[in-house]
Amino acid sequence: MAEAGSVAEKVKQQADIVRVVGEYVQLKKAGQNFRGLCPFHAEKTPSFNVHPSKQIYHCFGCGQGGDVFKFVMEMEKCAFPEAIRIVAEKCGISLPRPREHGPEERRENQQRTVLVELHREAQLWFVKQIEGTLEGKAARAYLEDRGLDRDTITRFGMGYAPSGGDLLLRHLKGKYAEKTLVESGLISRDGGGRLFDRFRRRITFPIANDSSKIVAFGARALADEQPKYLNSPETPIYSKSKVLYHLDRAKDALRRQDFAILVEGYMDAIAVARAGISNVVASCGTALAESQIKLLGRFTKRVIVNYDPDAAGQAATERSLTALLEQDFEVRVLSLPPVGDKKADPDLFIREKGAAAYLQQLKDAPPYVDYLITRARQMDLSSGEGKRRAVNFLLPYVQKIPNSILRSEWATRIAQQLRLDEPVLRAALSKAASERRSEVKLQPELVPSSAKPAERRLIRMLAEAPGFRSELAQQLEASGLFRGLETEKIFAALIRATLAGNAFESAQVGAALEDRDRRVFFEILFEDAQEPNWEEAQSCLDTLARKQLERELSEVQRGIEANPTGEALKSLLTRKQELMRRLAASA
Ligand SMILES: [Zn+2]
Repeated sequence: MAEAGSVAEKVKQQADIVRVVGEYVQLKKAGQNFRGLCPFHAEKTPSFNVHPSKQIYHCFGCGQGGDVFKFVMEMEKCAFPEAIRIVAEKCGISLPRPREHGPEERRENQQRTVLVELHREAQLWFVKQIEGTLEGKAARAYLEDRGLDRDTITRFGMGYAPSGGDLLLRHLKGKYAEKTLVESGLISRDGGGRLFDRFRRRITFPIANDSSKIVAFGARALADEQPKYLNSPETPIYSKSKVLYHLDRAKDALRRQDFAILVEGYMDAIAVARAGISNVVASCGTALAESQIKLLGRFTKRVIVNYDPDAAGQAATERSLTALLEQDFEVRVLSLPPVGDKKADPDLFIREKGAAAYLQQLKDAPPYVDYLITRARQMDLSSGEGKRRAVNFLLPYVQKIPNSILRSEWATRIAQQLRLDEPVLRAALSKAASERRSEVKLQPELVPSSAKPAERRLIRMLAEAPGFRSELAQQLEASGLFRGLETEKIFAALIRATLAGNAFESAQVGAALEDRDRRVFFEILFEDAQEPNWEEAQSCLDTLARKQLERELSEVQRGIEANPTGEALKSLLTRKQELMRRLAASA
């Protein structure tokens, strides 16, 4: 990945993988290596290893491994350029400014930078309004009335957009061109071309993207003004369907707990987060977009949907379910019980019942199919027509269960719960199932292949015997002795890298391999081993040569057993004699 002379390579040369990994995993020195509990799978005995001189990590439990960038990409769920930046930052390495490709791109980058800066400034200003003005004081009183104390207001950056109509405009006007102000979405233009503040007499909530940059605002009306919630429009830095509210602060908790609570609005997200439950995100709009689901999927594939209990919320829940199931999410649905005679959203529920009660509700939240059966049972099931409607409501979801045994179990349950004729329901289900677009995906094979000792030693020597690596690579290449081995691809990659003559990097070779091969390769690198020497290399090559003869011999033998006649048989027998003679000589 890190090309010679590239920024990535420069960062990697200066970076210390132990220090970077150590920020995420508690590492202890173990011999030459460092060891800790693997962050990629649950374990009690450490099998996660970091090799300081080779600058690689490898988990003997789950097989994850790579270099410092791969580690950061996995942990932060970010792309390669972002990983370079993070590593550089953690190690105090300064980066050159990225090169832009054309004037168009440069202009767009500049525009984005300016808009982000404008949002930062608007945020400071909104906060100043809620803290220091009379109107702001009233807004604060309103929030406090809803149970939001000063700490929470500060923590979530809530601010206030005053009623004046052009106060933000006046604040920003001197510093930004009119065009930029309008592009930001925070300033609008009326029919007569006059500029004015988009948000007036509203509490503001900064909306950040997943790298914690404020890119938009949500704004809630103070009184009964409509609409109750008003958000930033789509802008060059903000696309509603690509941002999840609170994700920037939820990342760690999502990774740790491996599930997300999905709520509708920012007030809900704030209520849940301030109750100490950080793994919450809000879709900020009723329909969950596919790109939002993909974004969330970088952190966890398990979700508890907790939308409002009203009809709109139910419809949104069902729409989100379909989208989540399509992306292979494991989904549970929480519908909160009413508080008194009021239907409860997360905000109200936590305010009235407390965090512990909410946690219990989360724990008891049923799998989505249970939720759906409950919904179907609320339909009128007394008539045949009603039952048909209930089944048609359920079928599309059941159809999306990837596992056929589970699907069958659900069919039985649905039949019992809705008092349906099971065979009829099964027929409908199996028809639905056969129309499924995608079938069950199999887990990638993670069982390591069994590299023989001679192969393991040769691989290790090719990777780190500076004295004779290239000679060894040449011999292997010329003899082709590694062909047909289970480790063939590892050998091929090592030989290629060695003969290319560049500075050799295990991580780079590993990155070019398939998971299964990389796993074997890294295991070999972490084995305790004595100093390599040329005699041992020769004896390993002899072993491979013998193995090759044996393989060839058994092939010839199979040929003979296939009962050939005449010349064919004669030449096979000659070949067999020859191979047996060579084998005897090599022993
Ligand atoms: Zn692991």
